[in-house]
Amino acid sequence: MKRQLVMATNNAHKLEEVRQILGSPFSVKGLSDIGCTEDIPETADTLEGNALQKAWYVHEHYGVDCFADDTGLEVDALGGAPGVYTARFGAMNGYGESHDADANIRCLLDKLENADSRKARFRTVIALVQGDKETLFEGIVEGKILTERAGEGGFGYDPVFAPTEAGGLAFAQMSAEAKNSISHRGRATKKLAEYLAARSNN
Ligand code: IMP
Repeated sequence: MKRQLVMATNNAHKLEEVRQILGSPFSVKGLSDIGCTEDIPETADTLEGNALQKAWYVHEHYGVDCFADDTGLEVDALGGAPGVYTARFGAMNGYGESHDADANIRCLLDKLENADSRKARFRTVIALVQGDKETLFEGIVEGKILTERAGEGGFGYDPVFAPTEAGGLAFAQMSAEAKNSISHRGRATKKLAEYLAARSNN
């Protein structure tokens, strides 16, 4: 019988990606599948804190094993910002609304205009809550922020983030498969998959 797990998201794209990596032993449901329609609080000041907050919320309110992710872009020249505020970076600096990808990118490019370093990384933290146990998984992809947008694919900051391993290409210039194979979220999800697989063999 398949093991049931809930991912604390309503993002169909994320669910599909995770289902592919976790494979057939698991049946991964999203929030709408368990009737969770409320906004889950995300008020911590670290990626770890937010991921744990979301996973525990769903576990406590819906009585299911659950995992949740949180991602941040960490830019060296900005002292690791925007980090946990990545989705709201533009809005916090007077550029557009929260979660507006174009405003976020404009804000980032302006802030880095005279920067010596354009080094950055995406970091994803996944928090898994099973029973009364919590476990964290981390995925990182190193790269740099381009001086202008490149490519049409992906979402968010993909047009201006060039992973070191991709020879100068932006995430937005890569196929979904190529991006997922090296991405922060892909790497964190693979660690989750290995952990779950090792435990289901015992
Ligand atoms: P979330 O934690 O997945 O909601 O992501 C937080 C912020 O990081 C959002 O602004 C996303 O657009 C951005 N982000 C997360 N993953 C990626 C990615 O793979 N490429 C570009 N931006 C991303």
